[in-house]
Amino acid sequence: MKKTGDHYDAIVIGAGPAGSTAARRLAQTGLQVLIAEQRQSVGDHVQCAEFVPRMITKYAGLRSIDVAQQVNGIKTFINGETASVVRAPGYVLHRCRWDKELADAAVAAGANLMTGVRAVHVNGSVVTLLCGGEQQEVTGTFILGCDGPRSLISKQLGNKQGETCIALQRELTLVKPLNYAEIYFDPAWYGGYGWVFSKGTTANVGLAVHTSHTGRLKELLTDFCRTLVARQIVQAITGAATTGGLIPSGGLVQCLANRHMLVAGDAAGCTHPITGGGIMNAVVSGQLAATAVMQAIAQGNEQLAKSYTAAIQAEYGRQFAIAGERLASRNQEWTGNNAEFATLIRRSWITFPEYYMQ
Ligand SMILES: Cc1cc2nc3c(=O)[nH]c(=O)nc-3n(C[C@H](O)[C@H](O)[C@H](O)COP(=O)(O)OP(=O)(O)OC[C@H]3O[C@@H](n4cnc5c(N)ncnc54)[C@H](O)[C@@H]3O)c2cc1C
Repeated sequence: MKKTGDHYDAIVIGAGPAGSTAARRLAQTGLQVLIAEQRQSVGDHVQCAEFVPRMITKYAGLRSIDVAQQVNGIKTFINGETASVVRAPGYVLHRCRWDKELADAAVAAGANLMTGVRAVHVNGSVVTLLCGGEQQEVTGTFILGCDGPRSLISKQLGNKQGETCIALQRELTLVKPLNYAEIYFDPAWYGGYGWVFSKGTTANVGLAVHTSHTGRLKELLTDFCRTLVARQIVQAITGAATTGGLIPSGGLVQCLANRHMLVAGDAAGCTHPITGGGIMNAVVSGQLAATAVMQAIAQGNEQLAKSYTAAIQAEYGRQFAIAGERLASRNQEWTGNNAEFATLIRRSWITFPEYYMQ
């Protein structure tokens, strides 16, 4: 049976960094906001390597207990050799805890959070939520799709599923802590890269590849971990569980908003096409989404698509267009020849000057 529920000024689907940020801002202005999150508890099973640039503190609060470790920058390895060491301070987060805090802040601002509730259908202002086997309808003047890389709302806006990488990760015990976030490139990892992000005594060790290589990902990650054991970076591989997921790599979705609906964060393709970094962008796009909704309330719904699209394009349009070009030519020219591969990566990875010189 379908229950008909309440009306909200804004319904935010997804309590990741994008959704909680947007919901908090909207609730702070006195709007009635509902956050619908399919997980039983916010932050449960977050699939993430948890590295953020220090600049994130400009946009979101970070408490010391949210930070597993500070790192000085990024070390890049190509074909097993150190290729660059760049100072770019950042943090490896406890995302599970931080995501919860962001959602708590939204609730403290007045948002209504429902967990264990999945948005399954949207028709105009009506959102159908599936909750414990029962359907419930709620209505919203504005609907914000902050529902990650397989976004229902993005589809509703007419967007096709964009390009993605597929990632797999395990948390392994380090031989000793690392002061830099480590990035690895290898010709066997088509379209992606490996990482070791130190969290004190352990590290997130992961690998992302183009989705065409999904079938080999587990085996490739095991090989990568074995190499790290041999190099005495991590201790013996134990039964650590793997996590993983999709990382958008196709850039911004074509339609970011209409007159009452928008997408933010991964749902909007706000993940950097080359690095896969999307945490800070989720926060920033969540803020821009809230601002656009408030403008639409003040100036009329027809402003929503225009102002939000302009804001997101100004923030990411050029940066992502360049990254998309670099990624496309890298994937096209991918080679097993080590020397050529090193040149290719230098032209297409953000820590090398060659990336910016084309
Ligand atoms: C393995 C991996 C490693 C990564 N490492 C990094 C990294 O080191 N640094 C970085 O910056 N980025 C990283 N990313 C990307 C980063 O995790 C995302 O960009 C970021 O989480 C996006 O935030 P979001 O709020 O848009 O979406 P999400 O964090 O995905 O949140 C979306 C929320 O919506 C909920 N949801 C989805 N559909 C529905 C529905 N129908 N109804 C209700 N709720 C729904 C989900 O349960 C989820 O809680 C990584 C991604 C992966 C997969």
